[in-house]
Amino acid sequence: MKVAIIGCTHAGIAAMKQILKYYPGTEITVYERHVDISYMSCGTYLHLGGTIKDLDQALYANPTEFSEQGVHMRMRYDVIKVDADKHTIMAQDLQTKEMHTDHYDKLIMATGSITAIPAIPGVENPKVMLCKTCEQAQQLYEAAKTAHHIAIVGGGYSGVELAEGYVKSGHTVTLFQRGPHLVNEYLDPQLSQRIEDLLTTKGITIKTNAQVTAFSDTADNRLRVDTADTTETFDMAVICTGVVPQSELLAGQVNRTERGTIVTDRYMGTSNADIFAAGDVTEVKFNPTKDRAYIPLVSHAIRQGALAGINIFDKRLGSIGTQATTGMLIFDQTVACTGMTLAAAKAANFEAKTAFYEGNYRPDFMPTTTKVSIELVYDQQTRKVLGGQLMSAHEVSQSANTLSVVIQNGNTIDELAFMDMLFSPNFDEPFNYLNLAAQVAVDQEHGYRRNN
Ligand SMILES: Cc1cc2nc3c(=O)[nH]c(=O)nc-3n(C[C@H](O)[C@H](O)[C@H](O)COP(=O)(O)OP(=O)(O)OC[C@H]3O[C@@H](n4cnc5c(N)ncnc54)[C@H](O)[C@@H]3O)c2cc1C
Repeated sequence: MKVAIIGCTHAGIAAMKQILKYYPGTEITVYERHVDISYMSCGTYLHLGGTIKDLDQALYANPTEFSEQGVHMRMRYDVIKVDADKHTIMAQDLQTKEMHTDHYDKLIMATGSITAIPAIPGVENPKVMLCKTCEQAQQLYEAAKTAHHIAIVGGGYSGVELAEGYVKSGHTVTLFQRGPHLVNEYLDPQLSQRIEDLLTTKGITIKTNAQVTAFSDTADNRLRVDTADTTETFDMAVICTGVVPQSELLAGQVNRTERGTIVTDRYMGTSNADIFAAGDVTEVKFNPTKDRAYIPLVSHAIRQGALAGINIFDKRLGSIGTQATTGMLIFDQTVACTGMTLAAAKAANFEAKTAFYEGNYRPDFMPTTTKVSIELVYDQQTRKVLGGQLMSAHEVSQSANTLSVVIQNGNTIDELAFMDMLFSPNFDEPFNYLNLAAQVAVDQEHGYRRNN
């Protein structure tokens, strides 16, 4: 059997690995536009900030290791047409410009996403740059050598991380965020404000409620950035306003959503029995709402890619959905989130409320300790945990993973308040801080609910 995989970053690689493992003897052909595979976009800010010396360090795989296992790695190939009825792919070799047609029995669409370029006049200015691929990261790094004052457009995860990277490398940074809060898809205002304060302390200028309306050249060849209220001049700007799925190859051939994502079942199969899709080109099942959602993450791409590979000939393992758990390290602060924010929960018509807990992560008698802040989102009606956000100089990312399981399993604040967690003064208080956050929620709800 012949399997074709279009796109070889996280979803494509994960799919290929499973096919090699579970279906040896399959003829696999991979088509990828770029020269590299497996680039982690988060490598961009890590490189800018000096944490990793070389962008290659943000790659975890290379084409040779797969060609040595018999995979046909068509690197620098651009697939320009898929004919789902005929089971054919037409691709151009970007080096020789030659066209090739290939036949497949099964196809995996792992074509991911590209930066969503906002319709701002002047956005095509070469001083306005993008930040998703390895090539773009290289361009950002090169441009930063001569740029001093940098504008970042978009205050989500990637904009905030990029701002940190540039400040660490000695640049002056202004971050423009359209809405009132940074990282608003993952954080409620309280912790979001703390991030804003932290970034401001580190010298980053944050402009919230500031929608960029135009880019243009100045007479001295700098970049003018306009918002409704301000005009400022920079050396360059970076767009961090999210991504859009790349599914046009299958337009009219499989079911797609209005946003352009490919609709899949839990096995990553599409409306065409021989085509699977995974990663940023698809949606996820978001367990807190039990609905489909577009949440492009590496963690989703690798799981969906692996499932597409496992299920390609035989539907064996279905997705159990996600809580979209994420984390970042901003200077010395770990920020980790899972499930819904209060705003998202209210928008989804939950009778949602938050409980805020703050306390040292381990006893004061230990040589050091530090504060952990937790915002727990729960449904007042069912008392189920809906989301959680943690921030601390202590490493709290794994606690977001714990909360993710709590939400996945439908646990209540009453159960989380007494859920088994280890105690050792090295690590936590006798009641772990997640127990304590849930106990705050229980107190807010006037004590434990009677089980009749
Ligand atoms: C700045 C930034 C930081 C991020 N940080 C994180 C993070 O810390 N954690 C996290 O979980 N997520 C993070 N993400 C999100 C993450 O990068 C994406 O979710 C992930 O890259 C999706 O992987 P994918 O394989 O589905 O798609 P992509 O990474 O988009 O890869 C798709 C591949 O398909 C190829 N392709 C597409 N069309 C064709 C075609 N027609 N022919 C040939 N090849 C084609 C492309 O060249 C590309 O290599 C970040 C994103 C950005 C932009």
